[in-house]
Amino acid sequence: LQDAVDRLGDMIAAARVIVPFTGAGISTEAGIPDFRSPGGLWTRNRPIDFEEFVASRDARDEAWRRRFAMQETFAAARPGRGHRALASLYRAGKIPAVITQNIDNLHQESGFAPDHVVELHGNTTYARCIGCGQRYELAWVRQRFDGDGAAPDCPVCAEPVKTATVSFGQAMPEDEMQRAAELAQHCDLFVAIGSSLVVWPAAGFPLMAKQAGARLVVINREPTDQDDVADLVIHQDIGEVLGPFVRN
Ligand code: NAD
Repeated sequence: LQDAVDRLGDMIAAARVIVPFTGAGISTEAGIPDFRSPGGLWTRNRPIDFEEFVASRDARDEAWRRRFAMQETFAAARPGRGHRALASLYRAGKIPAVITQNIDNLHQESGFAPDHVVELHGNTTYARCIGCGQRYELAWVRQRFDGDGAAPDCPVCAEPVKTATVSFGQAMPEDEMQRAAELAQHCDLFVAIGSSLVVWPAAGFPLMAKQAGARLVVINREPTDQDDVADLVIHQDIGEVLGPFVRN
């Protein structure tokens, strides 16, 4: 571990522009389970894809039931050492923005300005109408859901209201994809943290950075699909690896 931390420290010191790319693994320390680890969310529930959500009221009710079942977990989660280390490097001016697949809002909570968190898969701490895009707070949805036991539709346009996340089968947000590409192509160090790197197109960014000339670091407990192209691969716990880079 110490050797890996030292090598990472040297690469961070040598870099001018560092772009982190995070997945569910950075948030397990905060108490939010990832998808693919043993005990992860997918070992319990098959995900509801976008088409199903749109087509079926039952699917929408089930999606909201699951979301509210996770509410205490999301509400209690606080940034872990990984989030805090990245926030420290951001404050030091080394990181312009973080690209994340996470939906838990923890980078913002650790001190990143909302504009500097590029959320590829959206955010689960609020909701939007899938028709007109109107934003709704979860408390608003909950009140209606608890009232009639059914997922609410948008009072403006009558389309379904969904967490502001990107489901399987749903289009990726164009602005975020564009910003992530620019970040990946204009950094000298790209660090993929806590992602199995199997969900595309998000998993394309480490490769894009590498092809544009950046050095690539992968930090993940398990092997990932892109270990073979990385300049440094650290198969250790994220909190342990990034803890030494936390500055308060
Ligand atoms: P994933 O579940 O596919 O991969 C997570 C990886 O992190 C795994 O390979 C696991 O070994 C590793 N990991 C877990 N805890 C770790 C730790 N403490 N130290 C080191 N490694 C650790 O997650 P993904 O690649 O992000 O893709 C899943 C999708 O699920 C994402 O697109 C995201 O939208 C969504 N998701 C988000 C959250 C969240 O917001 N916190 C949680 C679950 C799923």
